[in-house]
Amino acid sequence: MDKEGQDKSAGVRVSYYLKNPITCPVCGDVFKKEEMLTGRGRLIARQTTDELRRTYEPSKKVRELNPLIYPVTVCPSCYYSAYPEDFPSIVKEHTGIALSQKTKRIHDISLFFPIVDFRRPRNLFTGAASYILAVGCYSFMPKDRAPSFKKGLSALRAAWLFGDLEDKYPGQNFGKLKRLLYCKAADFYERTIAYSQTGEERIESVKHFGPDLDKNYGFQGILFIASLLLFKYGQSSDTEERAHKLESAKRTISRIFGSGKSSKSKPSQILDLSKDLYEMIGTEIERLKGE
Ligand SMILES: [Zn+2]
Repeated sequence: MDKEGQDKSAGVRVSYYLKNPITCPVCGDVFKKEEMLTGRGRLIARQTTDELRRTYEPSKKVRELNPLIYPVTVCPSCYYSAYPEDFPSIVKEHTGIALSQKTKRIHDISLFFPIVDFRRPRNLFTGAASYILAVGCYSFMPKDRAPSFKKGLSALRAAWLFGDLEDKYPGQNFGKLKRLLYCKAADFYERTIAYSQTGEERIESVKHFGPDLDKNYGFQGILFIASLLLFKYGQSSDTEERAHKLESAKRTISRIFGSGKSSKSKPSQILDLSKDLYEMIGTEIERLKGE
């Protein structure tokens, strides 16, 4: 790819840069954000996975296009990162420490990927890196920006992209990192629900709950993903503790189909998936009790 986001092999542009420049609130660097071009048969949507991730069919026009690599805004100079709506919202008192950690951020990312350049068009590596950076940088965000949720969402999307990397470059430890990120996501989603109950963090400001870009599953989506991640990736060597956590996940999931019928805010897909998950968790609890 060249600087303008041109996939030369296919001859079709996949991205462009927004006109209005962004000023980094941490280091003052000025840069333009890259966005994906949609339309004209670039993306052909397929079904969603059990984790509500949208899959795409490779299109003839563009060999590879991954919408998930673009959303996070990353300062190419100091690597401060956040979703566009939160990017300017860093707590003023935290800009000093955020700047002082510039070298650490750049070093930490180099441990995952030796060469990344956020001044060049995004690729799978910089896309995955952008989410790892966001997980770190949301510690500088005010509570009303739902930092734990944004960390969970970013860890989950990073896990998805590490899964893509694992498929593309097998045998390079990407699978191990993927599992690590799923576990992190499970933790943050669990915290998001706890904080939403205590009021410690507010999620009202969240416009798009995802988890993917194509559909907004709202708070129901958080409840579902939290329970699913706990079931699939939650760890505990203590059987009793694991059973206890699963019981709590079962209660969480029952809140989704509590009222039964599907509606606009409660699509039938999430209802069906939740019912399946409820049963799977029930079976797992029985199995643990029999141990
Ligand atoms: Zn910066």
